[in-house]
Amino acid sequence: MQIYDLIGIGFGPSNIALAITLEEKKLMNHHIESFFIEKQPNFAWHANMMLDNAHMQVSFLKDLATMRNPCSYFTFTNYLHQKNRLQDFINLKTFFPSRHEFNDYLAWAASHFDHCCAYGEEVIEVLPEKQGDDVLLLRVRSRDQQHLIHERLTRSLVISIGGQSKVPDCFLSLKGDARVFHSHHYLQKIKEHTKAKRIAVVGAGQSASEIFLDLHQRFDSANIDLIMRARSIKPSDDSPFVNEIFNTDFTDYVFNSPEQERGRILGEFWHTNYAAPDLMLIEQIYNVFYQQKVAGNERHRFLRRHTVRKAIAKADGIQFTLHDLNNDQEKLMSYDVVILATGYQRDHFKSLLTPLLPYFNDLKVNRHYRINSAPQFKPAIFLQGACEASHGLSDTLLSVTAVRTNEIAQAVINTINQPKNMPSKRSASSAVV
Ligand SMILES: Cc1cc2nc3c(=O)[nH]c(=O)nc-3n(C[C@H](O)[C@H](O)[C@H](O)COP(=O)(O)OP(=O)(O)OC[C@H]3O[C@@H](n4cnc5c(N)ncnc54)[C@H](O)[C@@H]3O)c2cc1C
Repeated sequence: MQIYDLIGIGFGPSNIALAITLEEKKLMNHHIESFFIEKQPNFAWHANMMLDNAHMQVSFLKDLATMRNPCSYFTFTNYLHQKNRLQDFINLKTFFPSRHEFNDYLAWAASHFDHCCAYGEEVIEVLPEKQGDDVLLLRVRSRDQQHLIHERLTRSLVISIGGQSKVPDCFLSLKGDARVFHSHHYLQKIKEHTKAKRIAVVGAGQSASEIFLDLHQRFDSANIDLIMRARSIKPSDDSPFVNEIFNTDFTDYVFNSPEQERGRILGEFWHTNYAAPDLMLIEQIYNVFYQQKVAGNERHRFLRRHTVRKAIAKADGIQFTLHDLNNDQEKLMSYDVVILATGYQRDHFKSLLTPLLPYFNDLKVNRHYRINSAPQFKPAIFLQGACEASHGLSDTLLSVTAVRTNEIAQAVINTINQPKNMPSKRSASSAVV
């Protein structure tokens, strides 16, 4: 069995950017034998939120390569050039392409790495390969769509699996009920509910806002309740000085700050990324409610300062016990469909690494995103998108992706080049598949 220098789990923007960096490092005589494993059957970027009129929330210049190497073949600008749309895009006068177009750019970039990416395989665990007390390699186990198990060996691992749907506690008992689903599944699931009359959208962020407007246009007469704990929907602040927190050097500043200070910085700027839709979207929602007033009907409701205390499945709908924070009263509501735009959690990597946990102290990462491990643990494991607490708010976004992959690639090169007691490619034991 081949031993890879690097296996990447997930082939979203973070690991595509890493594949590009490694490709360009070959020109500098750094050859890293890498392979990527992606659970989706082909490349897709948040496919179920690919709504019409949805736009990027970050400049196209923060693409997969420009910030690291503006001369790269894989810049968004070169993608436009290759597709013969560069001049037309310039005429749009925007930094913010549609999500459809950015998805196409990402798919174009990903297509250059089909030879080193297995699609349709979900990594299920990572095991230690030991020699005496030392762990020398990692065995990555994945399951394909026919439920066959695949195993691969690697010297280093980069886990870039994005977020997993966050479901508030009061909805956990409704798991499996087709009437309740997370925004992560929105487009796929909403098609099954064309006759819905009463719809609840829970959340206050960009996804909740986009879904509310999409539902308003998708259904002629359904009633939609937008439910949130906050008093109002606040816009994301993308003014220039605030935006500096997404600059690459701010990562150093956050990482080098004492833990308490990091927490304070995250708190101060939390609203740049969470529960903060674009201003334009907020204005559109406000207009929908205003036009209702003009027409004298109350088709949709904005249930601000409301929390869902209980949600139970009934034959005729999902029944909410809603707590109205304005008057401290409870009321019952019933819905045909409930959409949870309640965000993502990013700790799933821990369950993939369960067999390795004895070799880690606290799963903290160093500045180069490598998990700190015991001396007898030789492989290097890196995290992308799960280091917000140590590296700042840009970690889950595209902002620093291109530069971050350079830092990781360089750390991998340094690790591989370290004289270490590692088996050569030829002496590796073969693995059962
Ligand atoms: C709707 C939406 C819009 C967004 N828009 C923006 C934006 O405009 N600007 C911005 O900066 N950020 C945006 N984001 C944030 C988003 O996190 C980043 O844009 C980007 O997707 C991060 O890339 P990633 O590769 O780290 O994670 P992801 O894009 O989530 O990719 C992770 C990949 O790993 C795969 N995977 C997961 N588990 C496994 C496993 N066990 N085995 C194999 N494969 C696995 C997944 O299928 C997925 O393809 C948006 C997020 C959402 C949800």
